Amino acid sequence: MKKSGHVIVGANVAAVGAIEGIRRHDTRSPILTISYETLGSYSKAMLAGYIEGATPEWLEYRGKGYFERMGVECLYGRKVTGLELEKSKLLIEGGEEVGYKNLLLAVGGIPFKPVINGADKKELIFSFTEFLDARQIRESLSKFDSVVVIGAGFTGTEIAYTLNKLNKKVSVIELGDRVLVKALDPRSSGLAESLMREEGIDFYLNDTVEEIEGKKNISGVRLKSGKSIPCQAIITAIGVVPNGQLMSNTALNFNRGLEVDEFMRTNIPNVYGAGDVVKALDITDGQKRPLPLWPLAYQQGIVAGANMAGAKYPYAGGLPMNSLKFLKVPILSAGITTPPDSGYEGIYFNDPKGSFYRSLVLKEGRLKGFVTIGAIDGAGVLTGLIKSQLDMSELKEALLYEKRIGLIRLPREWRNKIFTRRDETGYHD
Ligand SMILES: Cc1cc2nc3c(=O)[nH]c(=O)nc-3n(C[C@H](O)[C@H](O)[C@H](O)COP(=O)(O)OP(=O)(O)OC[C@H]3O[C@@H](n4cnc5c(N)ncnc54)[C@H](O)[C@@H]3O)c2cc1C
Repeated sequence: MKKSGHVIVGANVAAVGAIEGIRRHDTRSPILTISYETLGSYSKAMLAGYIEGATPEWLEYRGKGYFERMGVECLYGRKVTGLELEKSKLLIEGGEEVGYKNLLLAVGGIPFKPVINGADKKELIFSFTEFLDARQIRESLSKFDSVVVIGAGFTGTEIAYTLNKLNKKVSVIELGDRVLVKALDPRSSGLAESLMREEGIDFYLNDTVEEIEGKKNISGVRLKSGKSIPCQAIITAIGVVPNGQLMSNTALNFNRGLEVDEFMRTNIPNVYGAGDVVKALDITDGQKRPLPLWPLAYQQGIVAGANMAGAKYPYAGGLPMNSLKFLKVPILSAGITTPPDSGYEGIYFNDPKGSFYRSLVLKEGRLKGFVTIGAIDGAGVLTGLIKSQLDMSELKEALLYEKRIGLIRLPREWRNKIFTRRDETGYHD
């Protein structure tokens, strides 16, 4: 049996964070990462760019030779199929066994795939979650002119926008009554939808695909509303859920996400979790939930890695943030963007000259979230205010109406509180 000190299942950003966390405290112990993908760490935010023609090297997160430089052994293209936690070992497809001192599960999320009539044995049905999906879409571009995207969330709108740019006829089907429902408030979601419609993308809201039409090849989809949309390809993009495939039939606590404590440790003392697979602390409401975002996966990885190497650093929690960089006008949002109940106050400003939009959500005078469109310069101040939870009742109007929010707006004693907050790892969050 192969043996290693720190073993990481997964090789993407949570794994990279962990490697860096481990190496801050332990420069010698062997580290082994195992990933079923053939690329190591790569940016999923750039997958759309890859479909447009960029090289795989362009996606690399830490550049060539990173894992070697960090003294990490990599097994790529190898799937872990089982965990034997009581013996501190895992099994790899093909029968190989690997023993570990500490294990990190950084296995990410898996796409939620709807079951649709007529999908059987049809080609040109894709997910958009990992490099292989992007490669398959790119290699099939010449085989379709029109495509249906299921889901108008972050990845659905991004792939829709990209394929539209590549001269495909794109129709997006969304079960909810608006686009980007998790990231935006209803007004900004309407603005984002108009921007995408202006580019030629069609949206079908409050609807869903009931059947895929066509005998051998896809000829279209039939919606619940009865409408039919001709298309030759389908991309499902209705989100990811924490990847629990390895956790079933083990003693690990997994309930719609791997449960971890503040040290990113699971209920098994030498097993840790980080990234899209875990339920992590959301500082906007103090609840633990899956927060599938790149910077949070990295920070959780650092904390897990440091603790695997014997340190004792708690995770300070994260703030969900989204930036829509593909539209003509930049859109940024963070925290709670739509007041969930009457305990929250929602205020907004749509500049009459049309140059920017901003909405704020507050609770008892404290900022809980915001959306800003076309004026993103002050976003750092706003995220700082969410993290610090200072009472900003008296400043809320200035922060709403001013296009460029300068630090000068804030009382002097606040500036340090907002901009020197560090988590316990010593990294800025
Ligand atoms: C198209 C797209 C665009 C995105 N854009 C943004 C963005 O702009 N901003 C942002 O903050 N976030 C974005 N995200 C989300 C972000 O990419 C994720 O939060 C991040 O990748 C999570 O990192 P992770 O390391 O936890 O998991 P992943 O990146 O999912 O990596 C999981 C790793 O585990 C490995 N693995 C899983 N199971 C096994 C197994 N059984 N055996 C071996 N290996 C296994 C995989 O091969 C992979 O290496 C985007 C996601 C997508 C899909």
